[in-house]
Amino acid sequence: CSSTTPITATLFPGDGIGPEIAESVKKVFTTAGVPIDWEEHFVGTEIDPRTQSFLTWESLESVRRNKVGLKGPMATPIGKGHRSLNLTLRKELNLYANVRPCYSLPGYKTRYDDVNLITIRENTEGEYSGLEHQVVRGVVESLKIITRQASLRVAEYAFHYAKTHGRERVSAIHKANIMQKTDGLFLKCCREVAEKYPEITYEEVVIDNCCMMLVKNPALFDVLVMPNLYGDIISDLCAGLVGGLGLTPSCNIGEDGVALAEAVHGSAPDIAGKNLANPTALLLSGVMMLRHLKLNEQAEQIHRAIVNTIAEGKYRTADLGGSSTTTDFTKAICDHL
Ligand code: NAD
Repeated sequence: CSSTTPITATLFPGDGIGPEIAESVKKVFTTAGVPIDWEEHFVGTEIDPRTQSFLTWESLESVRRNKVGLKGPMATPIGKGHRSLNLTLRKELNLYANVRPCYSLPGYKTRYDDVNLITIRENTEGEYSGLEHQVVRGVVESLKIITRQASLRVAEYAFHYAKTHGRERVSAIHKANIMQKTDGLFLKCCREVAEKYPEITYEEVVIDNCCMMLVKNPALFDVLVMPNLYGDIISDLCAGLVGGLGLTPSCNIGEDGVALAEAVHGSAPDIAGKNLANPTALLLSGVMMLRHLKLNEQAEQIHRAIVNTIAEGKYRTADLGGSSTTTDFTKAICDHL
């Protein structure tokens, strides 16, 4: 794509702090002169029978058409019985891998200075298949689905990612000692794919040991690939290693070349509407989206402005120990551009 032809991308501002941090992204992108036209879609107020969720059919069509988008967090009320918006998006758009880079930000001191890892989460099945029912009163059952097709697909993505991004090692995270059939199949698929990439070191790490190793020495890991639920948990753990959920971006990769970037965090109802949210995670997700579009120059420019603003320390949001509002922090990033 030429950097002068505007590219249309879908934007879901989402719930809670979503609209505040989406506003920040729009402002920073406009200031940086990024050639993106946003097609905004909001979560509906009633269930759309075509998606069986509050997501409108038109919003899904928008992502299918544009093949690229940025998504704010979407809230899922606990135990209300309707289909999670995030699950709907992942299933309907076949967003099979969620890539979550996690690295120490220069200038923001945490317990570790050298975190630089990528978690790749299978995004469509496992415990998140949405298959739960009551067997008899007082007994419920949830099905964990692992398929050869989805496991091979995410493993292939992880190894290809490692190879094309100069990474040396892929660790498959599992609990196959207990979940012998399901995680066993996942590992079998990872091993099959590993054979095709002899230049990449392959290892298998049990999830509980992985958590301990990550908090003791995150530098032990490079690329981690894992089933859905483990990926959800491990990526929040990794966010904690570098300063919290306000900082970590992600991108969902779909078949047919769809890429939908989103922050790892949720809608943060405790701080929503207060101008307190840290927009960094969504901004860095936007940077991932720009890299996907090969708008590398603008991606680099925005990335540098964010890092420099945080390193300077004058404007930081409360989650990073500062007292800046979302708006002031955003303005500081724009001033650095
Ligand atoms: P959360 O990520 O929304 O919040 C956890 C904690 O982190 C809160 O204290 C919050 O204030 C803080 N936090 C998160 N993002 C922040 C930011 N950008 N700046 C500063 N602080 C931030 O997790 P939760 O409270 O468990 O979930 C709230 C809702 O979000 C739920 O409905 C959940 O289902 C949904 N959720 C959505 C997604 C998604 O859309 N991908 C992901 C996770 C949770």
